[in-house]
Amino acid sequence: MTNNRRDFLQKASVALPIVAATAATAAELTNDNFQPEEFWRDRMTPPDDGKKLGWFVDSRRCIGCHACEVSCKSENDVPLGNFIRQTFYQDVGEYPKVARMFMPMSCQHCEDAPCIKACPCGALHKTTGGTVAVDYESCCGHGSCVDACPYGAIYLDPVAKQAVKCHNCYHRTELGEGEPGDDSESELGSGLGGGEAMEPACVPTCPAEALYFGDLNDPESKITKAMDAAKEAEGELSQLRPEKETRPRMWFAGVALPIVEKVIPTEGESFKGESYDIYRWKEASK
Ligand code: SF4
Ligand code: SF4
Repeated sequence: MTNNRRDFLQKASVALPIVAATAATAAELTNDNFQPEEFWRDRMTPPDDGKKLGWFVDSRRCIGCHACEVSCKSENDVPLGNFIRQTFYQDVGEYPKVARMFMPMSCQHCEDAPCIKACPCGALHKTTGGTVAVDYESCCGHGSCVDACPYGAIYLDPVAKQAVKCHNCYHRTELGEGEPGDDSESELGSGLGGGEAMEPACVPTCPAEALYFGDLNDPESKITKAMDAAKEAEGELSQLRPEKETRPRMWFAGVALPIVEKVIPTEGESFKGESYDIYRWKEASK
């Protein structure tokens, strides 16, 4: 990105209406959905495994190709019309000075997760490294989590009638004890399958190297190094909808976040295929 392009995007970011933090907190917005604390307190507590799994999205690099979505759908058998991960667009500027911004999105694996607080069946819980996951023995599929999630990151499977969301591809990342993305040999027999840990499917699929996943407690992990480099270049990283007080485990670099935020679904919505409808782009770009 040249300096000129960066200047233009930064000016566009200031000129566009940003979804401002309102006086309403997450608690005020969703309190009606929440279960009593004693019902979810244990499920909100991650196992004491010393790991802090999280995501870094370098939206400066995203080219909006949707390869991450396709690999996610393929890996997790996501049906047509539903998404675990989606890349949102927003056009900015006036012709001839225009640009299209991209925001790859998925579950934020919130530390203070409203979906866990709202789940009446005890199905949503924290697992390895703080990953927020669904227990399919318990999920009764009545969708309180969809109503509570401020990022549109859960859908109800149309056939199974159960909640579906990003689970950090645990069938890949928990294969062994090695750091996901670490090529060195993992300790055999130590994980679910006794093999080498792999990254979530979207990460190695991304041709732009915009997605990073790993242990934020490990100073040598790829994600920590990428975040450090981005902070050095750009200053503090951003998070989505901090006014919701969910403490997301996803950080973004680049100016796309405040620009694209207004087209990302919120409480009661899920990522949907209509986001790609050209009339919606036009509408969203006004
Ligand atoms: S982003 Fe939504 S689904 Fe993911 S942990 Fe937060 S509230 Fe739950
Ligand atoms: S695969 Fe990478 S470049 Fe393509 S949309 Fe996803 S994050 Fe962006």
